[in-house]
Amino acid sequence: MMKKRNTILLLGITAIAILIIAQIIIIRGILKQNHEMLYLRYRLLSQEALVSLRRQYKVDVYDTVRFILDEYSREVAAELPLIRDEAEMNRKKGEILDYFTMTLNQEEYLSDYLSAYFERMGVEKDFTSRIEIRNLEIISTDTFPIIRTFSFFGKQPPEQTGGGKTAARTDISPAAGSRLLVERRGLEDNYYSLFFEFFIDFSDKRKMVLQASSASLAMSLFSLVIVVAIFMLTYKNLMEEKRLSDLKTDFINNMTHELKTPLATITVAGKTLEMERIRQDDAKVLETAKLIGKQSVHLNQLINMILEISMWERTEFQLDKKKAVIEEVMNDIVYSFRIGPGNSATITQNYSFNGLEADIDLVYFITMINNLLSNAVKYSARDPVINIEGFAENGKIFVRIADNGIGISKSDQKHIFEKFYRTSSGNIHKYKGLGLGLYYVKKIAAAHGGDVTVSSKPGKGSIFTVTIPY
Ligand code: ADP
Repeated sequence: MMKKRNTILLLGITAIAILIIAQIIIIRGILKQNHEMLYLRYRLLSQEALVSLRRQYKVDVYDTVRFILDEYSREVAAELPLIRDEAEMNRKKGEILDYFTMTLNQEEYLSDYLSAYFERMGVEKDFTSRIEIRNLEIISTDTFPIIRTFSFFGKQPPEQTGGGKTAARTDISPAAGSRLLVERRGLEDNYYSLFFEFFIDFSDKRKMVLQASSASLAMSLFSLVIVVAIFMLTYKNLMEEKRLSDLKTDFINNMTHELKTPLATITVAGKTLEMERIRQDDAKVLETAKLIGKQSVHLNQLINMILEISMWERTEFQLDKKKAVIEEVMNDIVYSFRIGPGNSATITQNYSFNGLEADIDLVYFITMINNLLSNAVKYSARDPVINIEGFAENGKIFVRIADNGIGISKSDQKHIFEKFYRTSSGNIHKYKGLGLGLYYVKKIAAAHGGDVTVSSKPGKGSIFTVTIPY
């Protein structure tokens, strides 16, 4: 059983783990796809924007900057041929590149146009833009290459260059980062030749992709939660079933033990009666016969109890309620208990009900209190001391039975009122029982519309409180 349970648990956990991995893979796929879609969409939109821009304006968006750059280039074109020192030349080239990059980024107004266009189209319009220079030459008497990333005749030719025409790039892989290449441009003038790329980058791209995928994300999360919940529920049921079957096994063991004791006595008594010597002695015969009678009664009681329990299971049991003076009932119970099973116990009676009459089923009520009292004696490791308290309050009677016995652990307290439940110490045959006494108590209290509770400390003792409305 244990093994089977572990296998089921292991299988379940493995299945859930596989499911989680599968979901992660699917979600990643969806995110990637949405990311690509987003990229494509904005790429398409920016291409459209460029087309409409060219259609609307006769002048080029870079005309101003082109003029500024040419002015600047004219100056540096005069300086460059004079520089002899290589380090100085490199520094100057750096400076030129910086100036070009800064001026282009500052003076372009393509990004403003794009932003306005996106807004008109009702899509996200917040992005950052950046121009990066790929190739730059200053043209003087000679040509001074400032930067050269693309070789125009090498392996990586841009599709179109120069002439003020725009060029669309084909590699649109989103893996290239979160940046989107809007256009590639070449610019040429008297003193320079330039080739650059214009990128835009959406600041909250991640949010946009997540938003686009939120439905799928929610679905997969929801299905995961459902699967885990169903698994946990199933497992819990399995454990509960196992616990019940364990209880039943325990019960059968305990019952066999309980039934065997009187049976053994009867068998021995029968054997005794067979002996010639005993039969001669009238007093011995009578004694043995009485013993047999007593044990038969005990056996009968046990069997009746079991029968009664199974009957309770089928029907709600009927109470025969009558008015009774609680204080007197309690006095009678304690009196009988003192001279019977409780004769070894020190019992103090601290109850007072002021002559209150309550509607109770006398027989069941007595059984209930007796069960609690005999447990108080049974589950004690020293001389039992029992304190009985009682009072009436807010339409209810309270009977509290406190002992100085072995006590009950917190985890057992949750179960002791269940049918057949015995604590592990109760299972040691030192304390005999079937695990039905408290089950009875609970049932009887409930049938009266009341309840029974326990508070206990192992090693210190237990307090059982019965409440019954009157
Ligand atoms: P039984 O006495 O036949 O085992 P009960 O239903 O009367 O069955 O009690 C259930 C379990 O609760 C017992 O096995 C015992 O361990 C524990 N128990 C009941 N009453 C007491 C008590 N007064 N002190 C300590 N343990 C108790």
